[in-house]
Amino acid sequence: MDFEIIVRKKEKGEVVSERLIKKVEIKRAETILELGFRHKEQIGIIGAIQDEYIPLQVEKISEKYQNCPRCEGKTKKNGMKYTDYHSSLSDHKLRIQGYACRCGWQKRPTIHGEYGTSVHPDLTKMQGMLGAKMPYK
Ligand SMILES: [Zn+2]
Repeated sequence: MDFEIIVRKKEKGEVVSERLIKKVEIKRAETILELGFRHKEQIGIIGAIQDEYIPLQVEKISEKYQNCPRCEGKTKKNGMKYTDYHSSLSDHKLRIQGYACRCGWQKRPTIHGEYGTSVHPDLTKMQGMLGAKMPYK
């Protein structure tokens, strides 16, 4: 038997895309190491799922800038940019739409610019707890 982890995107109830995240053949685990996914595999699976999920959320950020905050006119797309995001288990390089307006206003959104940080608080917290457990040198 094969086991597949698939991400499915639906819009108004219709499946618009599917992506295979991981496929494994079901085998008996000869040692406990083979029972379930290894730690690194688990992080890889979550990272791959987030790679599908976060860009959809980033598109929602772009929607905010389709109208100019200065003159309320309709903005034009002005190139794609990359922005970094550090989630608790995975790092992401996200493409984000830039916008410009006839009045001269322009915006190149970044995760840091939108939220004041590009690091998810869960990661900050984990790093803090990890640091606290380390012996002081
Ligand atoms: Zn404007």
